[in-house]
Amino acid sequence: MTVQRSKLVIGNWKMQGSFAANSALLSSLVGKTQGVNVAIAPPSVYLAEARQQLTGSSIQLAAQNVAAEGQKGAYTGETSAAMLADVGVTYGIIGHSERRQYYGETDSVVAQKYLRLQEQGIKPVICVGESLAEREAGQVEEVVSRQLMAIIDVCGVETLANAVIAYEPVWAIGTGKTATPQDAQAVHRFLRQLIAADNKNIAEKICILYGGSVKADNAASLFTMPDIDGALVGGASLVANDFLAICHAAKASIVG
Ligand code: PEP
Repeated sequence: MTVQRSKLVIGNWKMQGSFAANSALLSSLVGKTQGVNVAIAPPSVYLAEARQQLTGSSIQLAAQNVAAEGQKGAYTGETSAAMLADVGVTYGIIGHSERRQYYGETDSVVAQKYLRLQEQGIKPVICVGESLAEREAGQVEEVVSRQLMAIIDVCGVETLANAVIAYEPVWAIGTGKTATPQDAQAVHRFLRQLIAADNKNIAEKICILYGGSVKADNAASLFTMPDIDGALVGGASLVANDFLAICHAAKASIVG
């Protein structure tokens, strides 16, 4: 029997926003995303304010990053998973290619961040994806399996029951280039099979998002793919109508 997974759309605002801009964006979204799971990931300084504005709304909060080291202590500049839980965060993005590339985050640091989030009941959104050079060298499966297995090996496959995966080919992030729905589907299927080798039940249920220049005009075709369960959206999540169009495409793709 095929499992019907619900769709999820997460907007990653990255290092963008202000009180005024966030407030305008959120008031355009609230009340317009029914029928699909939606979360937004503002910069951490704005999480608490966004929480206030989202009170009573079904839109959930996601964090863009979390401290690997622990839940409190002498780690200047860091934000712990306990603090994220305290402000009402539901999802935590980890392993984003920008963090791997600009901040030197290794697979083992990503696994520590995963553990810290799960200790606080926050669902990690594990980003995996290959660079253009790796794709051209035929290493897509090798790269994404290394990134995912680094977590499974340390934390155990069962913990994926409370996690989300985002396949984000690095060459598609912020570039306007999107993987074709078929190419993305092939990697999503591969990731699901990789998990199924350890635990079939979790593989069938886990939500695997696609990320990389998802826009209003390509979302619907990506969402028709059987193993694509939604999107992690960067640029288009900053424009209310574009983000809403992606959320509506996700809702429209839900069968039955
Ligand atoms: C991202 O940063 O996770 C992302 C997918 O960005 P964009 O949609 O802008 O490519």
